[in-house]
Amino acid sequence: PTAARTPLMAGNWKMNLNHVEAVHLLQKLSWTLQDKKHDFDRVEVAVLPPFTDIRSVQTLVDGDRMKIKYGAQDVSTHDSGAYTGEISASMLTKLGCTYVLTGHSERRQHHHETDEVVNAKTAKAIEAGLTPIMCVGEGLEVRKADGHVEHCLGQVDAGLAGLKQDDVRKLVIAYEPVWAIGTGEVATPEDAQEVIAAIRGRIEETISPSVADSVRILYGGSVKMASAGGIMAQPDVDGCLVGGASLQVDEFAGICRYL
Ligand code: PGA
Repeated sequence: PTAARTPLMAGNWKMNLNHVEAVHLLQKLSWTLQDKKHDFDRVEVAVLPPFTDIRSVQTLVDGDRMKIKYGAQDVSTHDSGAYTGEISASMLTKLGCTYVLTGHSERRQHHHETDEVVNAKTAKAIEAGLTPIMCVGEGLEVRKADGHVEHCLGQVDAGLAGLKQDDVRKLVIAYEPVWAIGTGEVATPEDAQEVIAAIRGRIEETISPSVADSVRILYGGSVKMASAGGIMAQPDVDGCLVGGASLQVDEFAGICRYL
């Protein structure tokens, strides 16, 4: 991170925690961070619960004036209408969401989301005033063949296609190598830096140097308290997208306080 970019620690709960459990965990997280006098202006903290938890999370965050932000894990490419099971971006804004994940590898893999779909979701999110956290990352085969940088840059180009400069400036990108997600195999800080610096370089080239300076790029994949410090010490890494460890309050609070 640099002074221009506030680090973001985002907890992706995936399909875990019902709304009662969500309230419980969030309360504990808030108390723990308060105890440790967490400076939210210095390191932003966000949780990304399942849709069914968001209303409860909103009520708790508002009621207790928590500085923790929240968002969703997915959003529809449509605005409203006959799309059974879908959730629109404006429904999420209405619930006070700040963020929404787009293009998480589990959506790309299990729900066949293409780069075009990810691009459409990212655009819809921005249009509704949400900040997308757009995920990119290579699988093991691509990494072994040394194609990881090109692969990720391709996903970034496609995901950002047609977006305005100022929209890109505000969004968040997450580099999540698929082989590191949920496997316990965290990328080395140098691996994270390599791809994240390349993404920033690409944005400098295709959009503008000032946008490249402002856009936040996170690392995700098996981040734990013990690995967060090393990853965050890299100049281009602006935060972490945390899955498994975000379900454990002490681990996640430790990640938020990596300094
Ligand atoms: P993990 O998940 O931290 O459990 O590897 C990260 C993610 O998928 O966002």
